[in-house]
Amino acid sequence: MKVLLTGGAGYVGSACLRWLLKRGHDPIAYDNMLEGNAASVPESSRRLVVGDIADTDRLADALKQHQAEAVMHFAALASVPDSIGDPEAYYRVNVAGTKSVLDAMRTAGVSKILFSSTAATYGFHAEMPLRETSAQTPETPYGTTKLAAEWLIKDYARAYGMSYTVLRYFNASGADLDGEHGEDRRHEAHLIPLILHAALGRRPKVMIFGTDYETRDGTCVRDYVHTADLAQAHELAVLALRPGVGKAYNLGSGTGATVLEVLRACEKAVGRPIPHEFAPRRPGDPGVLVASPDAIVQDLGWSPRYSDVEAIVSSAWRWHEKHPRGYTEQPA
Ligand code: UDP
Repeated sequence: MKVLLTGGAGYVGSACLRWLLKRGHDPIAYDNMLEGNAASVPESSRRLVVGDIADTDRLADALKQHQAEAVMHFAALASVPDSIGDPEAYYRVNVAGTKSVLDAMRTAGVSKILFSSTAATYGFHAEMPLRETSAQTPETPYGTTKLAAEWLIKDYARAYGMSYTVLRYFNASGADLDGEHGEDRRHEAHLIPLILHAALGRRPKVMIFGTDYETRDGTCVRDYVHTADLAQAHELAVLALRPGVGKAYNLGSGTGATVLEVLRACEKAVGRPIPHEFAPRRPGDPGVLVASPDAIVQDLGWSPRYSDVEAIVSSAWRWHEKHPRGYTEQPA
């Protein structure tokens, strides 16, 4: 399939692009390169279009030129703490940016979209695991803007004959199994890369936010899902998209790990203690977020294979160990 991936030079987007390429599809990335890495896109001279999702005309042109049959919309801002400090940016990129993507699709006559949504759209819940039917009551601008984008897509689809699949990621993590590509942002706020940066001495230590949650060791529980498994889900979902149909699926492993368990798994992979410090809770963090992935397993035959914490962390460490300064050391 010919697919355009907004944010296709980013962490999850490029993992999906590489997967699609290996599976014989014809993907291109459309990325403003603020967080993207050209080296993460194979054949980047012809598979990477540099542009911003806010530039509706440029995106529509890219869709037409590539004769795209579908869009996978990854481009977004994705840090819970940053969203609390700067909601303007989150509404601009995640909501207005999604509207621009949909408008470009209408102009170019593309009617199929997969959307990268998030567990953060669910907010605080006592009952786990979360199902697609669980109430969406987000607690942070990251969650509200992703939910608003889900609504935008649903309304456009109904009115303008589009079909969509919303994929609600839990904690996207891990690196390509060959150790060649991994997680590398200019501004990092996510747990596993921050722990591994501390292991490499790129930062003095990692902070553990909150030790008084009602969990087995007091730290937050999250459901970590490997990017290779996310990529498989995207391929299955795009192939299954039928005209006029809209669906939402959780993408998680169905099991949770605490922050301390992730730290211990990293220490095991690295082979030494990793400097860390306990700190107060981070605002907006629910104590537990765990998915039920049953719906996508049942409907599309998704079979996550790499999403246990030890496998995730050892793949991430392989990449970090090999690329201690990330993509900056590699030629573009
Ligand atoms: N976390 C932490 N220290 C950090 C970054 C994150 O303790 O430096 C915790 C955070 O509170 C959350 C979990 O790790 O419980 C995962 O956070 P991340 O930002 O990676 O993803 P999120 O769950 O917010 O999407």
